[in-house]
Amino acid sequence: MKLDHIGVAVKDLDKSLSAYQALGLRAAHREHVAGDRVEVAFIPFEGGRFELLKPDDEESPVAKFLQKRGEGMHHLALTVGDIHAEVERLKAGGVRMIDQAPRVGAEGTLVAFIHPSATGGVLVELVERPQGEADRG
Ligand code: ZN
Repeated sequence: MKLDHIGVAVKDLDKSLSAYQALGLRAAHREHVAGDRVEVAFIPFEGGRFELLKPDDEESPVAKFLQKRGEGMHHLALTVGDIHAEVERLKAGGVRMIDQAPRVGAEGTLVAFIHPSATGGVLVELVERPQGEADRG
């Protein structure tokens, strides 16, 4: 597994992007992820990327996170080679999953979240990149 990105929950995407821009970091890609009801922006840096997440509506899980905890780090994402096999392996090992099966995430990836109770309070996202993009990022 290797670091894919660090997810950060934000209330205002443009405002947050300008804050990162002041650090010399720029968004490479923005998109709406229907399954998670968020708009995301990816900001690459050496060895990884930030993923800023802004909820599309008040019922979005990220909106609930913001209401409870405010802006800040939301999750860590790790790249895996075969996400279906990885999810089955974790479930067989008794690891509590939020997603019982992989689903479509940003950039055409497949993703599955591990429950934070299994990882010391950190929300971990597994990501499988589309074929041929394995070394991106
Ligand atoms: Zn993510």
